[in-house]
Amino acid sequence: MQLLTATKAFCGCANHFGSAPNTNVCPVCLGLPGALPVLNAKAVEFATLASLALNCEVRERSIFARKNYFYPDLPKGYQISQFDKPLAEHGWIEVPTADGTTKRVGITRLHMEEDAGKSLHDGFSDSATQTYVDLNRCGTPLAEIVSEPDIRTPDEAFEYLTRLKEILLYCGVSDCNMEEGSLRCDANVSVRLKGAPKFGTKAEVKNVNSFRFVRAALEYEIERQIEVIEAGGRVTQESRLWNANEGRTYSMRSKEQAHDYRYFPEPDLPPLLVSAELMAAAKGRMPELPEARRARMMAEYELMEQDAFTLTATREFADRFEAAAKTAKSPRRVANLLLNEVGGRLKALDLEQSPVSMAGIVEAADLLEEGKISSKQLKQILDVCFEKGEDFAAVYERERPQQITDASALEAMIDEVIAANPKQVEQYRGGKKTMAGFFVGQVMKASKGQANPGLLNELVTRKLDG
Ligand SMILES: [Zn+2]
Repeated sequence: MQLLTATKAFCGCANHFGSAPNTNVCPVCLGLPGALPVLNAKAVEFATLASLALNCEVRERSIFARKNYFYPDLPKGYQISQFDKPLAEHGWIEVPTADGTTKRVGITRLHMEEDAGKSLHDGFSDSATQTYVDLNRCGTPLAEIVSEPDIRTPDEAFEYLTRLKEILLYCGVSDCNMEEGSLRCDANVSVRLKGAPKFGTKAEVKNVNSFRFVRAALEYEIERQIEVIEAGGRVTQESRLWNANEGRTYSMRSKEQAHDYRYFPEPDLPPLLVSAELMAAAKGRMPELPEARRARMMAEYELMEQDAFTLTATREFADRFEAAAKTAKSPRRVANLLLNEVGGRLKALDLEQSPVSMAGIVEAADLLEEGKISSKQLKQILDVCFEKGEDFAAVYERERPQQITDASALEAMIDEVIAANPKQVEQYRGGKKTMAGFFVGQVMKASKGQANPGLLNELVTRKLDG
């Protein structure tokens, strides 16, 4: 995961995606002789925050190490990383499983490192014979998160990644944009006979850029490994590439012949000390995490789980909703209107696409709560809002829906409905009090939605009980 700092991990260059190639570079991130790295404090704070959110133990004193290898997009010839003393270890997150329960997936470690540059193989007129190099990404701060081999199915892998990304986004430590490469994933997978005590030989699927592809790559890879073994062969420990167009993986290079990275402590950086102040700062930035927030909001707004997921899809949206709901007479009603009435009229619950603003929803909820409009009138107003692209207040002010607040007029209508439905009256008087809703509904319909709901409720109960 790329950390969302303004500048790079060890120099002052902008940490920005999409700049003109080789413009955000300096002697440090180009690895020129004599240039010395200076650690970005913000990167440490973000990595520490992410570690805490993943329930890791943060090491007070961790060590940067050089990971040596040659590649055209790595001008220094090494990456600054962490090896045997990473920033954080022994964490976990909760992941839902197929049977409706949750399981804990262990987080082995979270360590800090710097990104390499990018080789551009496509998009130039001479791409058939030339490769270009963009070094803007050199030195971008990364946190590498390694999980324990606790995941048992491609679906669990998908859920794990989804939850992990959600937590990181809530913490604001990364934009997790997979298309731009700020979140990347390597998935290791092996198969074994049911009950076998040891894991089989694993293969690693590298750099898959969407969670759906990770799931598909794992499904493919599991089948492939089973076929190899059942045909009497052996799975090779290797890195493989996922080809999304063909829906299969290809061998990239064998791990057995892979580099020895010759890790050794980075001589240009002292040990990283996470002070009590830095820990406190990271803890102070810790938001309410998505799982906890959903549980609280389900209780507070009486939401179904699926609705809680919708409202907490992003921290910004949940914040916006809750800030608005707090100002309303009934926050629960705001949730209900937002999800059902506004959400129902949109393809997805995206307020940018809605003519009705959050303030409009709050106003509508209050009018409903006070009985100043009926739910039918509300629906009619919202229909106009969506038809004409206007906010709630504008349409409400113009149309000022009529209400029947004359008790005798309502009573006459109630009498008619009661006379026409003797069976339902009998049921009500036999103890089925919920039947009152039927009569309210019938009168509301007869009044074309104009009956004052509070008064109507009161009169219906009085008539039926009398
Ligand atoms: Zn630089």
